[in-house]
Amino acid sequence: SYRKGGYHAVRVGDQFAGGRYIAQRKLGWGQFSTVWLAYDTSTSAYVALKIQKSAAQFVQAALHEIDVLASISEGVDVNSKCVVQLIDHFKHAGPNGQHLCMVIEFLGDSLLRLIKYNRYKGLPLNKVREICHCILIGLDYLHREHGIIHTDLKPENVLLISTIDPAKDPVKSGVSPILERPEGSINGGVTSLIEKKLKRRARRAVAKISGRGASMGGAEDQKSMRNLDGIDVRCKVVDFGNACWADKQFAEEIQTRQYRAPEVILLAGYSFSVDMWSFACIAFELATGDMLFTPKVGQGFSEDEDHLALMMELLGKMPRKVATAGTKSKDFFDRHGDLKRIRRLKFWPLSKLLVDRYKFAQSDAHEFSEFLLPLLDFAPEKRPTAQQCLQHPWIRAMESNEKKESSVENVGAGMSNLKIKGGK
Ligand code: ATP
Ligand code: MG
Ligand code: MG
Repeated sequence: SYRKGGYHAVRVGDQFAGGRYIAQRKLGWGQFSTVWLAYDTSTSAYVALKIQKSAAQFVQAALHEIDVLASISEGVDVNSKCVVQLIDHFKHAGPNGQHLCMVIEFLGDSLLRLIKYNRYKGLPLNKVREICHCILIGLDYLHREHGIIHTDLKPENVLLISTIDPAKDPVKSGVSPILERPEGSINGGVTSLIEKKLKRRARRAVAKISGRGASMGGAEDQKSMRNLDGIDVRCKVVDFGNACWADKQFAEEIQTRQYRAPEVILLAGYSFSVDMWSFACIAFELATGDMLFTPKVGQGFSEDEDHLALMMELLGKMPRKVATAGTKSKDFFDRHGDLKRIRRLKFWPLSKLLVDRYKFAQSDAHEFSEFLLPLLDFAPEKRPTAQQCLQHPWIRAMESNEKKESSVENVGAGMSNLKIKGGK
């Protein structure tokens, strides 16, 4: 992909925007871009530099993403809104063409990483609640204040705020910025040593956040377990490449498979409530470590039909009115509203699933499914809005917990920038 129209090859120390930004290390990559940690010499801060592929369709996509990001970054303090902030954008000419570049605030690991670090065991429910709270603030802001539908909400697209992860924050960990291209190979020598150290520390920090670290045992870890409750897990919604306005939609088929709402599968039109469906899928995944729906093609049925069957096994039969509302409905349902090719469904309600398979306490399972089930209503217009979810007792329980805790103090060592609530 590093050819004409493709990615721009970056080396540590490369300069962008007339020397304002200096590449530090690669953070990640996607279908459209590579993303680098960069040092902003004009503000002395670290930023994420997203460098788009250069072919026309990628330029087009970047212009759209900039358009969305610029409108949500406008005016308000987006920091309080749990959506990523656009800082700057510019063009960069390279051997593979002209690349649009977006400068966005530097964030930490994705929720997907958090789930992985936690060995797919699920996070403690109070952490799930905190993350849900952040995502809901982001969604409420997008939906109500901007009329924007994200359309690709998934754990990968929610990033933790980097400062909760000191080892990932080069400022806090005392690593000074690279201002010039290092001599010789970037993979040997000092850089890679620092990187290794940073990575190790990052793993430990995330282990602390998730509560069930990779290296549990020993006095230090026990201490971190005790302090765990005080860590303020915050995150932000990112990746607006597929976002649209409710009144200006671009694609009929949206969302990543596992997080896709039923009305999208049936092609029955969609609105903000598709994000609420995906949100519920994320909440379940955070709490259990498993995706809520993992449809597969089978003998005589498609992935779509399996997906609908899985939904009905968990949520009950789809109301006939909803099942027949889409332009694709006839592909899957007969006129009674039954699936054509998957006849025998094994019903397994959510709270029973949480108790039987995930060993939730009865009361936890009950409360959590009371929160999730309305979001998984087959009828999109019946799903609660993000604003309504923020008022739900399951989310509100967090605020009352916070009030109970009194003093807030900082602890030393590598965790100095974390707010840890006072001991019991
Ligand atoms: P996709 O195929 O997912 O649409 P994309 O080319 O649009 O990919 P992004 O998903 O925006 O790219 O970013 C790619 C990766 O870079 C992310 O998965 C993440 O690991 C990292 N990344 C993106 N933005 C940031 C950020 N602000 N801070 C830290 N890392 C980031
Ligand atoms: Mg992405
Ligand atoms: Mg994208």
